[in-house]
Amino acid sequence: MNFLTNLLPNVSFPPALRVESGRRIEIKSASEIETMRTASKIVATVLKEISEMTTAGMTTADLDHHAEKRIRQLGATPSFKGYHGFPASICASVNNEVVHGIPRKRKVIKTGDVVKIDTGAYYEGFHGDSCITIAVGKVKPQAEKLIAAAEEALYAGIAQVKPGNTLMDIAGAIEDSIKANKFTVVEDFTGHGVGRNLHEEPAVFNFRTKRAPNVTLQPGMTLAIEPILNEGSKHTRTLSDRWTVVTLDRSLSAQWEHTVLVTESGYEILTDRTGL
Ligand code: MG
Ligand code: MG
Repeated sequence: MNFLTNLLPNVSFPPALRVESGRRIEIKSASEIETMRTASKIVATVLKEISEMTTAGMTTADLDHHAEKRIRQLGATPSFKGYHGFPASICASVNNEVVHGIPRKRKVIKTGDVVKIDTGAYYEGFHGDSCITIAVGKVKPQAEKLIAAAEEALYAGIAQVKPGNTLMDIAGAIEDSIKANKFTVVEDFTGHGVGRNLHEEPAVFNFRTKRAPNVTLQPGMTLAIEPILNEGSKHTRTLSDRWTVVTLDRSLSAQWEHTVLVTESGYEILTDRTGL
């Protein structure tokens, strides 16, 4: 299936998945939120480890092996493995690869690479989902800027999370942040609700749009916010492996993602790595 046939509203993983419109947005109970904290902390722990261990000469399969081993050691199962047939526990997307890169034994990481690692953990019925971008050794100044701008866009979006604000407040803040840094917003993928399902309502856009009804945020909603920035063209295409998405013009791409809870007064980043 060509994912371009079901562009939006859909979610960023996998190509075949579409958030079914009209399904309600799950409001999590206190105990469900506690379980999501645990699932998300497992994700955060694994991504922190991967960010520290990734060096030139390793393969993306090495990173996948580590992620799966640690997710299981920490009492969860990998959310991605087997999901719509995806063969691994992480998506490892290097340089011009945008999302859904399949880890490979032959994919050797080199100095100067920009490596996106996205993973999820399923724990006692709930998922956590997060993505980081790693600069391997010394990268080009423009790559450094892109990575920083992608992280800045994520936090600009997160800063809008509070009851009474809407999904378009998040989307607008992300879009403005990306444009201020003179990069492009990938529009082919969105963030999503996360909880019992890896992907659930609502689609969380990274740009202002009327393609889906706007939604007012309420305490207990859990959102995966995940802007994707390109250095050049915003357009993407999917390779013949039916998973790996690359930039159409081969320019660099960067992405950061957090699972975020809407609280009574604002937000809590469930996949936060600070303090781990
Ligand atoms: Mg993800
Ligand atoms: Mg996600």
